[in-house]
Amino acid sequence: MTLTGDLLIGASRVPATAGTMKALNPATGELIEPEFALGGASEVDRAVRLADEAFDSYSHTGLVERAAFLDLVADKLEAVKEELAARLALETGLPAAQFEGEATRTAGVFRKFATVVRQGRFLQATIDPAQPERQPAPRVDHRLQKVALGPVVVFGASNFPISYSVAGGDTASALAAGCPVIVKAHNAHPGASEIEGRVIQEAVAEAGLHEGVFSLLRGPGNEIGEALVDHPLVRAVTFTGSEVGGMALYRRAQKRPDPIPVFTEMTSVNPTFVLPAALAARGAEIGAGLVQRAMYNVGQACLKPAVLLAVDGPGFGELRDAAAAEIEKAAARTMLTPGIRDAYTRNAQRLESGGASRIAAGQEPAGAGDGQSLLYEVSGEQLLAEPALREEVFGPAVLLVRLTGPDQLIEVARAFRGQLSATLHAEAADRATAGQLLPILERRTGRIVFNAFSIPQEVSYASTHGGPFPATSDSRFTSVGMGAIERFVRPVTYQNFPDELLPEPLREANPLHLWRVVDGELTQH
Ligand code: NAP
Repeated sequence: MTLTGDLLIGASRVPATAGTMKALNPATGELIEPEFALGGASEVDRAVRLADEAFDSYSHTGLVERAAFLDLVADKLEAVKEELAARLALETGLPAAQFEGEATRTAGVFRKFATVVRQGRFLQATIDPAQPERQPAPRVDHRLQKVALGPVVVFGASNFPISYSVAGGDTASALAAGCPVIVKAHNAHPGASEIEGRVIQEAVAEAGLHEGVFSLLRGPGNEIGEALVDHPLVRAVTFTGSEVGGMALYRRAQKRPDPIPVFTEMTSVNPTFVLPAALAARGAEIGAGLVQRAMYNVGQACLKPAVLLAVDGPGFGELRDAAAAEIEKAAARTMLTPGIRDAYTRNAQRLESGGASRIAAGQEPAGAGDGQSLLYEVSGEQLLAEPALREEVFGPAVLLVRLTGPDQLIEVARAFRGQLSATLHAEAADRATAGQLLPILERRTGRIVFNAFSIPQEVSYASTHGGPFPATSDSRFTSVGMGAIERFVRPVTYQNFPDELLPEPLREANPLHLWRVVDGELTQH
């Protein structure tokens, strides 16, 4: 595919109206061809109006037809995975092989959402049949199903440029729900964004859908994102990135005359608690295993296990030494953007200013864009006294916390803000402390991991990638896994309707053979 650098608005390729940009190779500092178009408020208006025009027909596509479209996107994404990976290696400095895997997994996510659409359970079809004889008053027929919200804006993330970007899980789940999507591409990977965007644009055309089902925009700064969040026809927004950026967009959307949901996924340190018996039995294994996971994607992962907490005692030295040894052998690797690399240096410095001691460092950076792996240590008392130590350092750094005993472990667990995940390493002898810890973690996180690690994350029906603020702006939902579709639907009840006017999923004969709740019982009849 020859990159043109154009914006994609419906079926059109649209040239720049607000200047151009080039991608930066963060490994070499060189700019890469071609020039990419930047747009502004008029492109936003054009894309959102098209999405709104597409909404009525797209949200009413049959489940089989919509599922076939998602499968088509998956096939097309897989077909371009080599060129996508090659472009991403240039735009991120990360290995191409990693992105081929990410493309394959993301194609799998589109296919899983196709299955979700065919199954139709997300519609939550529910029927309370009429009870004309009911005393003291008859009941008329009530039927409920979930319907799509409307045009959705997706802010692509910088750190997983396929799975959380243009053709990522947010786009897949919104399209599965029946919502047209306008993506605000991340400027860190414009070439990959174009490849992914054109894959979806082609699939829309081949599937015979309204062109407004998908658009891809890019802009010179905050203005384009702000115009998208402000646009009166936009019905929901998803965002993965910084807490500052996410909250700015969230607050903006709440100030609209008609506030809309903004599902932000922002920050998490994914604390890992090693209880005394597990520490004594497996200290070294846990220390090494955690650092290996933490270094994945040069530490630029929302699920990075960034804080490792253990009670000083048998096994602590082994845990510490094994973690330090893994850090020391880590090569300095290119980070996603110069901005992210600079933020990493500043935030590591913040740990030191907060009283953390540097106990191990990886190989020295060779290039300006490299991030050096770092291991810090603090006491439980310091962690409790200094909130900055409990905040994310986005990059290859890990903080080890030396606790005085199980009471301090519980006190520290209570001090964390909302998290995407928390992990517990425990043996049978740790049962009492584990029992105390679990309700505390449950209240603060969306996923609790037992004797394993928070990375990798499974994308499946039981996945939760969410959690209380500031992990996300709405802990009731997940942004990863099949449940992510629930962000984009709302319930509508049809009362006293003639059968022929009802949506197909609610008709008496159940022509789609969906699982439905009829008079409180789950049935396929
Ligand atoms: P970001 O700065 O939050 O930007 C994410 C996207 O949102 C970009 O497209 C950005 O557009 C847009 N945006 C941000 N603030 C905006 C605003 N006020 N108005 C309109 N649009 C806005 O995130 P990033 O560039 O990916 O990385 C920066 C930092 O975010 C990292 O160093 C890291 O700390 C954090 N981060 C965390 C995670 C995580 O999963 N925990 C993931 C990624 C990043 P522009 O680029 O055009 O401004």
